[in-house]
Amino acid sequence: MFNVYEFFNKISSINPEIRLDAGQPDIKVDERIIEEAVNSLKRYETGYTKTPGLDELREKIAEVEGVEKENVIVGNGSKILIASQILRAKRIGIISPHWQAYESPAKMFGKELRIFKTSLEEGWEPKIERLNVDLLILNYPNNPTGKILPREKLKEILEIAEDENVKVLADEIYSDITFKPFTPARELYDNVVTVKGFSKLFSMTGFRVGYAIAQREDIKAMQKFLEVTTTCVPIFIQRAGVKALEIRDEIKKRVVRIYEERARLASRILKGTFEFYKPDGTFYLFVKTGVDGLSFAEKLLEKGVSVFPGIAFGDYRDFIRISLVSSRLEEGLKIIKEVKLCALG
Ligand code: PLP
Repeated sequence: MFNVYEFFNKISSINPEIRLDAGQPDIKVDERIIEEAVNSLKRYETGYTKTPGLDELREKIAEVEGVEKENVIVGNGSKILIASQILRAKRIGIISPHWQAYESPAKMFGKELRIFKTSLEEGWEPKIERLNVDLLILNYPNNPTGKILPREKLKEILEIAEDENVKVLADEIYSDITFKPFTPARELYDNVVTVKGFSKLFSMTGFRVGYAIAQREDIKAMQKFLEVTTTCVPIFIQRAGVKALEIRDEIKKRVVRIYEERARLASRILKGTFEFYKPDGTFYLFVKTGVDGLSFAEKLLEKGVSVFPGIAFGDYRDFIRISLVSSRLEEGLKIIKEVKLCALG
C-alpha cells in the first residue's frame, strides 16, 4: 500500500534537482526572525516555559486573531495540536482530497473514519446531508486543491455540524496565503477548534511552532496533552514567533504576491495539457494527469522533478500534487508538461 511518508523519504534520499513535492517553502525565513531566536539563546533563554505558551506570544496571537489570550494555546507545530484533537474524538469526518496527517493518526489511534469525497468536476465542493461523526475536519484553503469554500457553502456545512452537535477542527494554516476572500469557520460557528501555524506564511517549518484558537475547555484538553508529551515549545522559538507576528503584514504582502504569481504561471503553462482547479490560495496545484499518478510521479523523478501522487491525498489515482515552492518552478512545470505529452504520444 502507498505510504506518503515512505515516498517522501525516497524523494529525499534521491534529492532530485527540482523539488515540487512537500509543503516546504523555498522562501527564506526573514532574518529578523532568525536574529530574535539567536538573541534569545544568547540570553540563555533555554528552560521550560508554561505549557500553553509564553504570555507574550499568546497575547500577540490573540491580538492578531482578535480573540482572548485564554482562547489561545501554542504547540510544537500545528500537527500535534491536530493529533491531540483526533485522539479525543471517536468518529472523525474528513473531506477528501485531504492531507495525510488527519487520516494516518486517526487510523493509528483506532478511530472510525468517514470520508466525504469531492471532485474536480464539482469544484471540490462537498455535498453533505448528514455528518454522523463527532469531529469534522475542515481544511480551507485546502491542501492539496487550493480551494476556498464560498462562505455560503461553509455556512451550510457548519449548520449541519451545529444541528448534530459536531465539533469542527478547522485547519486554517493556509489562511494567510489567499487570493480570494476567506471566512474563518469560527466566525460562523462556536464549537470550532482552529489550528494555525508559522510553517507556511513564514516558511518556519523546522521551528515546529503552531497554535490553536478554541473554547477554554478545548484549550485545557490540548494543554493536558502537551503537558504529558512535549511540555512546551522552546522559548527561543516562541520569541521568533512573536517577531514573525510583528512583521506579519509586511511578509504577507510579499509572500502572497510570490505565490499568486507562481499559481498564475503554473496555470498558464499547464492549461490545455491538464485539468485542474485554479487555486484560491495555498501554494499547491492538484492536477488531473489522465494517467496513473504514481507512475507519473515516478517518471518525473527519473527526470529530476519530484511531486506527490494523488493517492497521497485519498482516492485520487489519476492526480498529482505540485507544490509551487521552487525558484526553478518554470523549468519543473515544463518537464511535467513534456512527460504528459510523451505519455500520450
Ligand atoms: N496542516 C496542513 C493542511 C498542512 O499542509 C501542513 C503542512 O504541510 C500542516 C498543517 C503542518 O503544519 P505544522 O508545520 O505547523 O505542523
